[in-house]
Amino acid sequence: MLRVENLRKSFGGFVAVQDANLEVGEGEVVAVIGPNGAGKTTLFNLITGQLVPDSGRVIFKGENIAGLPLHRICKKGISRSYQVVNIFNRMSVFENVQVAVLSRLKKTLNLFVPARKMAVEQTLEILDSVGLTDKADYISGSLSHGDQKVLEMAIALGTDPQLLILDEPTAGMSPEETAFALELIKKLNREMGLTILFCEHDMELVFTIAQRIMVMQQGKTIIEDNPEKVRRDPLVQAAYLGGADIC
Ligand code: ADP
Ligand code: MG
Repeated sequence: MLRVENLRKSFGGFVAVQDANLEVGEGEVVAVIGPNGAGKTTLFNLITGQLVPDSGRVIFKGENIAGLPLHRICKKGISRSYQVVNIFNRMSVFENVQVAVLSRLKKTLNLFVPARKMAVEQTLEILDSVGLTDKADYISGSLSHGDQKVLEMAIALGTDPQLLILDEPTAGMSPEETAFALELIKKLNREMGLTILFCEHDMELVFTIAQRIMVMQQGKTIIEDNPEKVRRDPLVQAAYLGGADIC
């Protein structure tokens, strides 16, 4: 579904991403791990169109989407959540998701099916799938941090993506919230058929749900393989099992 080839991005003289390579097959859950500053968020920004790469290719369903604007990439079926929560704080939970659904429906708007009505049903479905139905009327800014992160995922689902990209989906969550998010990610993948690419500092979570793992260091892919091979890789052992901070 997605193939990243030799992607590179520099800020001034500083190269944040170089030689980044990654493959995500349809239906897979793939994790990117690496120390702070390794370039994970920048890589995601390059894939989703927040940033334009200096060089390299991002092939999504056979088409090079590198450098396309965010909204075009979103319409092609890629949606993402952010490392730092990014929601409309003063809108309700329901409205936050409805805005995302409406943005997608606009292009299919016709005289016979009022978009807002369609959006209500789809918004309720999404809230149900992530377990936020009971909090639909809450003001988003009043939610717990864990619920805000889940709401972000719900917003990302509003554009009906095929590939969902999650930047540290459990950052700052309590153990209970993390366990809930883990089940949610599994459910989105297995029951709703979403392909998921995520980065995460919680190694237990990574090794529990990722079918493949890409390890980044100083902007480069150092290994991309199944969890067992990654766990046994000497470079990974030296960098992570020696106790370094991951993600
Ligand atoms: P990670 O998500 O793996 O922690 P980032 O992708 O956020 O890493 O950052 C990679 C490196 O690029 C860091 O050294 C960071 O300071 C730098 N960086 C990220 N965004 C910018 C930017 N907009 N301008 C300058 N440097 C940046
Ligand atoms: Mg980051």
